[in-house]
Amino acid sequence: MESWRNWSGSVVATPERIVSPKDEAELRVIVAVANRVRVVGTGHSFMPLCETDGVLISLANMAGDVEVSPDRQTAWVPAGLSIGALTQALWAQGLSLINQGDIDKQAIAGAVATGTHGTGKSLGSLSTAARAFRLVLADGSVVECDAQRDPDLFEAQRVSVGALGVMTRVKLDVLPAYRLRETMRRVPLEQVLSDWDALTAAHRHVEFFVFPYADQALLKILDVVDAGDDPAPSEGGTYKLFCDVASVAPFLAPTLQRIMTSAVGSSTRAAPAHKIFPSERDTRFEEMEYEIPAAAGPDALRAAMAEVRRLKLPIIFPFEFRTVAPDDIWMSPMNAGPCVSISFHQYAKMPWREAFVAIEAVFAAHGGRPHWAKRHTLTPEDVVRQYPMAPRWGEVRKRVDPTAKFLNAHLRQLFAFSL
Ligand SMILES: Cc1cc2nc3c(=O)[nH]c(=O)nc-3n(C[C@H](O)[C@H](O)[C@H](O)COP(=O)(O)OP(=O)(O)OC[C@H]3O[C@@H](n4cnc5c(N)ncnc54)[C@H](O)[C@@H]3O)c2cc1C
Repeated sequence: MESWRNWSGSVVATPERIVSPKDEAELRVIVAVANRVRVVGTGHSFMPLCETDGVLISLANMAGDVEVSPDRQTAWVPAGLSIGALTQALWAQGLSLINQGDIDKQAIAGAVATGTHGTGKSLGSLSTAARAFRLVLADGSVVECDAQRDPDLFEAQRVSVGALGVMTRVKLDVLPAYRLRETMRRVPLEQVLSDWDALTAAHRHVEFFVFPYADQALLKILDVVDAGDDPAPSEGGTYKLFCDVASVAPFLAPTLQRIMTSAVGSSTRAAPAHKIFPSERDTRFEEMEYEIPAAAGPDALRAAMAEVRRLKLPIIFPFEFRTVAPDDIWMSPMNAGPCVSISFHQYAKMPWREAFVAIEAVFAAHGGRPHWAKRHTLTPEDVVRQYPMAPRWGEVRKRVDPTAKFLNAHLRQLFAFSL
């Protein structure tokens, strides 16, 4: 049996089979005859979403075209295509995605399935850009759903962690191609927090990184510009060296991150949007992220940093602070009004569980809900309490997959209310 592991290495599985169908007809047969099945994008999720002892399906070999609609406002895209390949194909046709997250390695279906997002006060997650889905359901049938055709299935599918069926194509909102200018600078943390509302109102994308033992934040701002073709990738090698030092000498973490923060200077670059959004993430980490009501965001960050310091946790990665537009998706953690997203990372070679438990309690106490793909310990009771539409989502899940062949052990537990 071939084994499978996720990007960070924290989830290892030995599926009965790993298969990569070449077309939808082959995929339909695989799904119809399987007892237990999960579909994987590129395995960038930290939670065991793709773990299975049944059949693990990858759509990496399922080719297909990016079909732009005549009005050029949407495009049907192959679900297994990486965001990087998709954005290149769109750029060649004079189009861009509305927003992107930190990397572009994920499959578009994997990113949509988990509500993957970037930053931007008026910009929702990638799931909010999905207008229609083509799905292979548990019995091997194919359906297309959107706001008119089986609207309940469409609503449930917008954030569904692969629990309803296999997306083969997704119809996404797109924009005329645009360029972005990135400016990075070091700013005192308290200043960026007090300026946060003004900054996010003035710029299309704003985020910052702050190490838990540092008082300075690294502020990153992206704005649309007319010209620029210099993506100038950043250097990740030195950072990995710092992480390796900290993994063998954790007590050095506070000193190392003060050095790292002060070593960062101001920088600017401009290029096509899809070359500016993604960063290199060569150094593997484990991550937890909570979406927190915007008004509570600054205090949640301050409290989380204080907790790291109080417990003297040897955290070598920065917090990441972003903003995401509210949405109306049944199972989206951004569906309760304006929110910020705060990510907490730890170097993959260092222990993370104890620290994540401590910081998750802080985020939860500030009214947060976790990103489905990142480390959390929600119970089914939490899910029902936090998501008023969870029972309706569960009804749809039961209708399209009555034997729950798409649920693995983790999802069976998390979505027990839907069984
Ligand atoms: C380095 C790094 C950076 C990241 N940056 C961000 C970020 O900036 N913002 C953010 O929000 N998240 C971010 N993430 C999280 C990441 O975007 C999500 O974990 C995303 O789901 C990963 O996509 P994937 O293709 O690897 O999907 P996988 O992890 O392989 O799968 C994720 C889910 O999608 C489902 N799925 C995959 N393909 C299909 C399909 N065809 N049909 C139905 N379901 C499917 C799977 O079953 C699973 O439930 C990051 C993760 C890493 C490791």
